[in-house]
Amino acid sequence: MIRATKIVATIGPASSSPEIFKRMLEAGVNVVRFNFSHGKAQDHIERAEMVRKVAAEVGREIAIMADLQGPKIRIGKFEQGKIFLENGSKFVLDADCQIGNQAQVGLDYKELPRDIRAGDVLLLNDGLIVLVVDRVVGNAIHTTVRIGGELSNNKGINRLGGGLSAPALTGKDMEDIKTAMSFQADYIAVSFPKSAADMIMARQLAFIAGESTRHKPQMIAKIERAEAIPALQEILDASDGIMVARGDLAVEVGNAAVPALQKRMIRMARASNKLVITATQMMESMIVNAVPTRAEVSDVANAVLDGTDAVMASAETASGKYPVETVETMAAVCLEAEKSDVVKLDADFLNATFTRIDQSIAYGALFTAYHLRVKAICALTESGSTALWMSRHNIDIPIFAATPKLGTQRKAALYRNVTSFELAQGTDREAVLKAAQDLLLAKGVVHKGDMIVVTWGEPMGQVGGTNALKIMKIGEY
Ligand code: PGA
Ligand code: MN
Repeated sequence: MIRATKIVATIGPASSSPEIFKRMLEAGVNVVRFNFSHGKAQDHIERAEMVRKVAAEVGREIAIMADLQGPKIRIGKFEQGKIFLENGSKFVLDADCQIGNQAQVGLDYKELPRDIRAGDVLLLNDGLIVLVVDRVVGNAIHTTVRIGGELSNNKGINRLGGGLSAPALTGKDMEDIKTAMSFQADYIAVSFPKSAADMIMARQLAFIAGESTRHKPQMIAKIERAEAIPALQEILDASDGIMVARGDLAVEVGNAAVPALQKRMIRMARASNKLVITATQMMESMIVNAVPTRAEVSDVANAVLDGTDAVMASAETASGKYPVETVETMAAVCLEAEKSDVVKLDADFLNATFTRIDQSIAYGALFTAYHLRVKAICALTESGSTALWMSRHNIDIPIFAATPKLGTQRKAALYRNVTSFELAQGTDREAVLKAAQDLLLAKGVVHKGDMIVVTWGEPMGQVGGTNALKIMKIGEY
């Protein structure tokens, strides 16, 4: 059985050796994520080389996702590296403070005090520490500790309810986009966007950086700010996909609101023909343990049933003790959850209307495959959009995207239920259909006598939209 849900694995110290990474690939990684919050440009460039080299050895095309740091607001450093805050004590966040102590600490975003009012609730270290603002005096935010604990250097700050005005793209992000484009990242994830404009800006910067190679990355909006929720549709329209970035999102909107938001985001993304990745703490305990908790298993399975394209591992694979086991476990949980999924394709199209020819063929193929119970769907595609449209609907029949374009092959690694492979272009229709048939046979996914549905654009060999569909019997050619 082919797993439909894809696995995104963050690469870090625990997964940067070719030996470990090879095992992770074999365990089922489809997309690798480079976290630009850590490491230097050269580290990412070297990792990209390693990843491409090992993937070529294993014979797989995977996508690289460059995840920009974004304007995460952080406190400064402490004299002793950390302090312990007692409940009820006073603590000051002061933009002018150079080095922190028991009474105060500095801020990396000097404008923060202007955004803050008395009564605001500030969450530090992913919400583990809660401060209530008493008053703001100049550049100093005076607070009372509501929930204390250990606080160490450079921990993040969020405001409950969101609304901090730091711009989405920092100078560092702009440099990092250039680095990502130097190794032709397939996806660029933008942190903390709050509007479509943030995504449009990031895409333009990537296009400028990619001008010489004409490489165009897919843009993923990380939904992790409270303001992004009401702007979700416009952000989706300006992006190729979203990430349900539950880490920061939970801090801004409150933990309890996240599960329902996850479901809504996945539904909206698919309805808008966009991709969606579910991220953060999915297998958190596997950072230190070889097996996950029951709750983590349920979390991954529920994301699959919600319809996510991919589940993501963060520290589990970047710095944990069990990067390979994490991928193996996620893969097994996804497969099992997919088996239990009830497919009701007809209901998806009840009120659907479409005007585009290629889109009609995509849905026609899906519908036909579903009712005739064929073995596979095969889309001969340049851009991959036919496969993307098909993959926005749940169906228990695998979709294959056959493309002459390496970039399409790689980006499709993230599409739910799509397996991509290379198929050279040709003008002779019969020869191309035979080549597609032979490739599916060689992969062992179909057998002689099986029925499949194939889509392509006529005339063949010319760039143009999909406008043809064939129900084909394997062995026909
Ligand atoms: P991060 O984003 O890991 O880069 O913070 C994901 C999240 O916030 O969930
Ligand atoms: Mn985040």
